[in-house]
Amino acid sequence: MEKIKMKTPLVEMDGDEMTRVIWRMIKDILILPYIDLKTEYYDLGLVHRNETDDKVTIESAEATKKYGVAVKCATITPNAARMDEYELKEMWKSPNGTIRAILDGTVFRTPIIAKGIEPYIPTWTKPITIARHAYGDVYKNTEMRVSEGSMAELKVTDKDGNESLSLIYDFSDSAGIIQGLHNKDKSIEGFARSCFNYAIDTKQDLWFATKDTISKKYDHRFKDIFAEIYEKEYKARFEAVGIEYFYTLIDDAVARVIRSNGGYIWACKNYDGDVMSDMVATAYGSLAMMTSVLVSPDGKYEYEAAHGTVQRHYYKYLKGEKTSTNPVATVFAWTGALRKRGELDSTPSLCEYADKLEKAILDTISEGIMTGDLAAISKLKSKRTVDTETFLIETGRRLSEMYKK
Ligand code: NAP
Ligand code: MG
Repeated sequence: MEKIKMKTPLVEMDGDEMTRVIWRMIKDILILPYIDLKTEYYDLGLVHRNETDDKVTIESAEATKKYGVAVKCATITPNAARMDEYELKEMWKSPNGTIRAILDGTVFRTPIIAKGIEPYIPTWTKPITIARHAYGDVYKNTEMRVSEGSMAELKVTDKDGNESLSLIYDFSDSAGIIQGLHNKDKSIEGFARSCFNYAIDTKQDLWFATKDTISKKYDHRFKDIFAEIYEKEYKARFEAVGIEYFYTLIDDAVARVIRSNGGYIWACKNYDGDVMSDMVATAYGSLAMMTSVLVSPDGKYEYEAAHGTVQRHYYKYLKGEKTSTNPVATVFAWTGALRKRGELDSTPSLCEYADKLEKAILDTISEGIMTGDLAAISKLKSKRTVDTETFLIETGRRLSEMYKK
């Protein structure tokens, strides 16, 4: 077979530990035999981030702005232990945080559903994609403990020096606590546009929910911004694709999500997204089966697995043991990025390759060949736990069969 040609390079961001090992295997076993791979390579492994004073992370984000599509391996976010382990010059920031700040994007997380790995909620036959607004609210709050007899007020000074005051609480009867939150119209607008664009992109309904009946100014602002942007910029396009924008209260949304079959995007305020994404990921089975894509409001895409570098497995690997680390989410990061590249460049053979590779992965699992994390939760009668490389080779065998047909 002649290798598939690419018109525009993909931004490739390499990473750390077990996922870095898997990255190489995926390329060697599943990608390079089929694609004349064109990437602009950035090594975001911690060693190289340290060598470049983390400039490589910024460069990789700038390249994503330029080319529009990136695929990223999981990376270490340094902490005190990593400072010693890697003899770091500084405690470099989380690469995901840096990239997200530059692209100003929203993260969409989608579970991968395979036959034999059934979700805990049996009605969830299709994936639920969660979009978390990763700015402001309680994550950038100011809070205080307040002594009895205090008066707490909210004060805003506008640019002309005018002050507005509002009573929070008169603590004459007890000591207590207060909290100040904020968000920005600009950030909410970017979040809304990323969600509307991704809904059109993936042809799925978009759900959004807040507690606007209780929070009549704060949450209501979110509701209004979404509604205004939808009416002005997206309504016609939603109707053309045959999808819906659906707004409801957060408690109603939670109840409907449980009853639903999945197959939509659920846009969440920051806290809701934090909490609900963990619940949804667990209900679908395994963090190792969760993909993630960062989408900027102007349509740049960065694909990755939702899990980390699987450090515990890496230390086993370093001792020469074979590990049964699940490569599925990382493979789906590649297929997501290659498919998007194919769509943008009108290279249907690339999209077809992505479809085939995803099918080969799902077939391998449903035929009972899987890594240990999945074998532990699979209800299939005959299943075989294999190491990462064997799983990829089995997938490759199915992929090559598909190309022979
Ligand atoms: P993790 O790498 O997600 O792994 C936590 C545990 O989850 C593993 O020990 C393993 O459980 C299981 N697991 C995760 N992915 C798996 C896979 N693909 N196959 C099989 N099992 C899997 O989280 P962590 O250990 O807390 O973090 C390790 C490093 O990753 C940290 O340095 C952190 O900063 C980084 N991190 C990066 C990203 C990112 O780049 N997006 C995200 C999160 C964390 P068992 O050990 O029980 O098998
Ligand atoms: Mg969380």
